[in-house]
Amino acid sequence: PRTYLVTGAASGIGKATVAHLRERGHTVIGADLKDADISADLATPDGRDQLVNRAYELTDGRLDAVIACAGLAHFVPRTVQVNYFGVVATVEGLRPLLAAGTDPRAVLLSSVASIHPADQAIVDAALAGDEGAAVAAAQAAVDRGEGYAIYGASKQAIARWLRRTAISDDWATAGIPLNAVAPGTTVTPMTEPMLADAETRKAIDAGIPMPLHGHARPEQVAPLLAWLTSPENTHVTGQVVFLDGGADAVLRGDNT
Ligand code: NAD
Repeated sequence: PRTYLVTGAASGIGKATVAHLRERGHTVIGADLKDADISADLATPDGRDQLVNRAYELTDGRLDAVIACAGLAHFVPRTVQVNYFGVVATVEGLRPLLAAGTDPRAVLLSSVASIHPADQAIVDAALAGDEGAAVAAAQAAVDRGEGYAIYGASKQAIARWLRRTAISDDWATAGIPLNAVAPGTTVTPMTEPMLADAETRKAIDAGIPMPLHGHARPEQVAPLLAWLTSPENTHVTGQVVFLDGGADAVLRGDNT
């Protein structure tokens, strides 16, 4: 049995992943705003510190895997704070615990939205590590009536951060695979309200076409997150694996 830390554990993909791992006998520490082993707001520096400090207390400083599912899709600056800065703080903050673990691995959640045209001001500020500038760029998008663009920008930024980071000394050279999964539309509390509205559902399906099996269920994402963070994964790193019913193949086509 391995010891996992899963953020976003109280809902959707995170919740399904916790169940998947516990059913297989693993120890899982869940983190979320509430209803989890660790309550922490990953949109804030204090909450990020709290996550790491509590993780040390609960594990004696050793983790075998981290699965960063916490995320937000609201049309507000907080979305980039959770989806980018919260995820970076989770993965980097818990890296020393992984370094003390056995066959350590980490995976985070990007999205098919990461390949939609993105607000580059948000992406650039995030990749520069400038949270104030990223929030300001996100607020500017809201003010232009383009708050919807914050989510895709946060997911593009985290995908690019992942590729840079995975091949660094702290990760690849240290023997720790680091990957992302990019789901297409998955039916969770994040998307259910949007999918319930026929017009919004049509717009979502136009942006994320899923010719294979349509929308996914969170239980269908969990096994891929589990495999990428299992000892069986020895050489997959720096990848954004699309679990999307073919959406990436449709949208990117021959642009490899
Ligand atoms: P969800 O809303 O069901 O679960 C997300 C969880 O993250 C919630 O429990 C929420 O409380 C937690 N969270 C949000 N803000 C937080 C914060 N500041 N601090 C701590 N926890 C916080 O959503 P989901 O659909 O399960 O999404 C999981 C991940 O998958 C997210 O990163 C999301 O962006 C990504 N994703 C989802 C879809 C989809 O269609 N559902 C598609 C692509 C990517």
